[in-house]
Amino acid sequence: MVGDVMAELRAGSDDFLLMILSSPSGAGKTTLCNKLRQEFPALAFSVSHTTRKPRPGEQDGREYHFVSEAHFRELVDEDAFAEWAEVHGNLYGTSLAEIERAKKDGAIGILFDIDFQGARQIRARVPEVISVFILPPSLEELARRLRSRASDDEPTVQRRLAKAQLEISNYSMFDYLVVNDDLETAFERMKSILVAEGARRLRKASLAESLLRRGRL
Ligand code: ADP
Ligand code: 5GP
Repeated sequence: MVGDVMAELRAGSDDFLLMILSSPSGAGKTTLCNKLRQEFPALAFSVSHTTRKPRPGEQDGREYHFVSEAHFRELVDEDAFAEWAEVHGNLYGTSLAEIERAKKDGAIGILFDIDFQGARQIRARVPEVISVFILPPSLEELARRLRSRASDDEPTVQRRLAKAQLEISNYSMFDYLVVNDDLETAFERMKSILVAEGARRLRKASLAESLLRRGRL
């Protein structure tokens, strides 16, 4: 099952964009993802499954599919995930159904907000995936942002800060590094990446070939 969907994605990777957005917690990945979703409604967002409890304001099926650990493990056994990992003590996974739904709905591509372990697993299956790592301008600013979110208690903030070094140490796995200093500037950088990647030869080669097949008018 995993092989089928991912192999099909590779074969038909022509026009369908797969984009991974990762960062240490608090660097602003969710904020940037939400802005991209508003600007490019035709780009689907992969709603992950997680065993984490919802934060205030989060809705089941919108930010995440919130499930019990037992249910998550059942999905793992059924091979329902394209990737999954333990992050900050909770389980998170991208279901194959999310990718299939995006393709069926005619989306131009799909955005994954996942950590470096998930990025590694998806890249191993679909090497054409575009991966972007968001960096905070400094560790002090990362700590400030984590606290300003106010939805996590101090031990959670400390745990996430301690994990930042490990996450940043995986930066070389990503195609692009975007520094989220000023939000609008970082957003412009993200948009530029999307637009440029859409124009890559591999994504437009089938159009060029079909023009050639037509011959002269
Ligand atoms: P992540 O998804 O990476 O954990 P969030 O998007 O939740 O991070 O951002 C963490 C906090 O930082 C939020 O309160 C958000 O509003 C704030 N934030 C995001 N980007 C910026 C920025 N460029 N400047 C200042 N604050 C930011
Ligand atoms: P949060 O709990 O703050 O929403 O997310 C914590 C971390 O889990 C973030 O780094 C986020 O990118 C990552 N994450 C969210 N969904 C997935 C997923 O489906 N797979 C993996 N591997 N990581 C995920």
